Amino acid sequence: MRLPFTIFRQAAIAMGATRADRLVGRRYRGLGAIFILHSVVDDRQEHLFDPLRTGARFLDAVIRQVRAEGTDIVTLDEAMARLASRSARRFACFTLDDGYKDNLTVALPIFEQHAAPFTLFVTTCFLERSANNWWSGLAEAVKQSDALEVPALGRHYVTATLGEKVATYRELVAEVERGRLTDAGLAALFAACRISLPRIMDRDALDESELRKLAASPLVEIGGHTVSHPQLSRLEPGEALREMTENKRWLEGLLDRPVRHFAYPFGDPASCGAREAVIARAAGFQTAVTTRIGNLFPEHRDNPTALPRLRLFSERECLRLVEFQRSGAAGALMTRFGDPVTTM
Ligand SMILES: [Zn+2]
Repeated sequence: MRLPFTIFRQAAIAMGATRADRLVGRRYRGLGAIFILHSVVDDRQEHLFDPLRTGARFLDAVIRQVRAEGTDIVTLDEAMARLASRSARRFACFTLDDGYKDNLTVALPIFEQHAAPFTLFVTTCFLERSANNWWSGLAEAVKQSDALEVPALGRHYVTATLGEKVATYRELVAEVERGRLTDAGLAALFAACRISLPRIMDRDALDESELRKLAASPLVEIGGHTVSHPQLSRLEPGEALREMTENKRWLEGLLDRPVRHFAYPFGDPASCGAREAVIARAAGFQTAVTTRIGNLFPEHRDNPTALPRLRLFSERECLRLVEFQRSGAAGALMTRFGDPVTTM
């Protein structure tokens, strides 16, 4: 049984961290956590339906809350060292996936203001503008419309309010994943909405000089995220290894530094598992992060290429929801009921 996200969200907000602690016990809190974000945007209202975008003010609030409670914000290397030493002081890492332009223009200034380090996992296909970024096209279609005709599904969606946009976006992503909304159906929808995926990619993704600027910051570590952002579990082992090593080599050549950390595309159990953890080690990565929800424990030191993370996406812009995840209750619930939402 999978919990609907709305029920999960309401329960989490109502419970907060204190009651969640009572529910699952402090043993789920672990020593620290790794947060996952993608795009970080200024505009609060327009992005709220899109789980790949996080508001700048919310990111700032999370950093302040983490620091206020005495948790250290550290690099992934420091996190692994603390797991090894079983340091009692709690820590948090921030990671941003894919390679969005706003990571330089919006996120970096916030992290600089707090002198907080973060890791950016960059996929080659973003910088080379070769990603099939259908999810960005759907977000754009939902964002710019009050009503949406999707002939491929024979459906009409009302997308006037934020709630309607949230529901429609989630439903359309699910239809793509179910295989009912195919490339042809998406292409027809984008043509009707005058949406150009390459133009969105140009607007949203970092280019090489922007990535070099980010990498020049002493707060930034660059990690790998594959060449073409595939579901690695669907590839032959040799092909999965090539996706990792070619992206790693390309980033190392571009930035003239070792790339030692990795994030699995999508990161859910259907996209990466024990086989991919072994391949990531063979590719030369010291750590690899998933999108499975959970905190970090000393045991993760023995399995550093299958690390869980906590999500800071727009539909979770609520500090109580962040605390609920950090308590370990979210991870415990998902172990019992499965993941309530779709992620990228
Ligand atoms: Zn990604």
